[in-house]
Amino acid sequence: MALDTPTVALADASLLRDQAFIAGTWSDADDGRTFAVTNPATGEPIAHVPRMSSAETRRAIEAADAAFIAWRDRPAAERAALLRRIRDLMIEHRDDLALLLTLEQGKPLAESQAEIAYAAAFLEWFGEEAKRIYGDTIPSPQPGRRILVTKHPIGVCGGITPWNFPSAMVTRKAAPALAVGCTMVLKPAEQTPLSALAIAALAERAGLPPGVLSIVTGDADDAPAIGRELTDNPIVRKLGFTGSNEVGKILMRQCADQVKNVSLELGGNAPFIVFEDADLDEALAGLALCKFRNSGQTCITANRILIHDKIYDEFVERFTHAAGQLIVGPGTSPESSVGPLIDAQALEKVQRHVADARDHGAHLLLGGEAHERGGTYFAPTVLNEVSPEAAMSREETFGPVAGLQRFSDEDEAIRSANDTPYGLAAYFYSRDIGRVVRVSEQLEYGILGINTGFISVEVAPFGGVKESGIGREGSKYGVDDWIETRYLALGGIGR
Ligand code: ADP
Repeated sequence: MALDTPTVALADASLLRDQAFIAGTWSDADDGRTFAVTNPATGEPIAHVPRMSSAETRRAIEAADAAFIAWRDRPAAERAALLRRIRDLMIEHRDDLALLLTLEQGKPLAESQAEIAYAAAFLEWFGEEAKRIYGDTIPSPQPGRRILVTKHPIGVCGGITPWNFPSAMVTRKAAPALAVGCTMVLKPAEQTPLSALAIAALAERAGLPPGVLSIVTGDADDAPAIGRELTDNPIVRKLGFTGSNEVGKILMRQCADQVKNVSLELGGNAPFIVFEDADLDEALAGLALCKFRNSGQTCITANRILIHDKIYDEFVERFTHAAGQLIVGPGTSPESSVGPLIDAQALEKVQRHVADARDHGAHLLLGGEAHERGGTYFAPTVLNEVSPEAAMSREETFGPVAGLQRFSDEDEAIRSANDTPYGLAAYFYSRDIGRVVRVSEQLEYGILGINTGFISVEVAPFGGVKESGIGREGSKYGVDDWIETRYLALGGIGR
């Protein structure tokens, strides 16, 4: 175990892994190469993990194939019990997992603690849900025949996950896949492989059979080759991906050659609308949570904040005051509410969006620049009168930057909210029941937060429409993405 930073003080040191997990074996890259995982709060390396490529991915896929039949044929209750053991171990080691997550990703410890609970919840939820995968019988229109419908796991699946929720995105894919009887090869983001490897360590401890879940690690330059193997290898029947639209489209194109099933959870550009009849205290609290959680690095963060004319000035003043109270600092410090951005590229994008919004006429009310702490810290920022033409209004900013715009009537707010190729999450605040129904029906989004800024929970279906993706994760609907429906036409029955 090559620990680079002696300050990584886990109660259970074996949860910090510097090898990938393939076919139930902790493995180095074939050529022994590694890359550094760094702490965004300090820029210091935490560990070095293997730089793998197609050959290692292929072996993981072959192991998943070899493990598939036995795993599929286990009763759902047994698979559920195993997932439940992994869940229990995650909760038992929650402090260590949260610390590891904060060290590699940067978010405040309290948020990491919440993410570990959320990640663990998928294992319990999907384990239970898989016990209830029912088939059907359909009355036959002809005599002597019967029609049965049965459900089956898709088979060997691939998973590719992002860095912003390094633990929850792993279980949100692996838990439903494994619960229904699929096996999986998963590649975590190069910035945050340690959380995925820690989950694999707990899965091994819980007794998950070799090959059922493999974790292949690689640096940014290795991702295309690993992705190619997952999409081109005919053994893999499905790919689940969470990440950027650009990479999601590449992977979808690659999957087209074999008509491989895909689930894609891609970017968003969430509108956050506050109508004049809203409860302002609630709207202010909801926006602060939704905007600054994970330093604004979530695909469901408010990116276009639309405030009704009548309440605009008061809302802007109160929100700017609240944002000014946020404490920027390392995630490991209990006072910190806003951690560093993931890397220098992320910082550069946020700086570019702020400069562009100002070029398009926005006024800076708070922050607006890299934080005095240096590194990748960015000061919580509020911009007034952001133009719909600004980059911030069209692309994900992924930073602690709130851009406010005004509107004067409901239709204008809806038009503006829908004026994007994305359709993941939208939020609005209103106490008028007629308006709540009207607006909900017209917003083109997969998830609506109505009088709340908090929407992520394992029992509800998470996913987008339009270019934000395909499929749903979480809830009873999340099971469907990992199963196939088979129709059995039975003849010769005699009556
Ligand atoms: P972000 O911009 O949030 O980092 P990405 O879409 O680049 O999002 O990354 C999400 C995941 O996709 C990461 O695990 C990354 O390594 C992986 N990835 C990036 N490029 C490719 C690719 N060409 N093929 C397969 N996976 C990729």
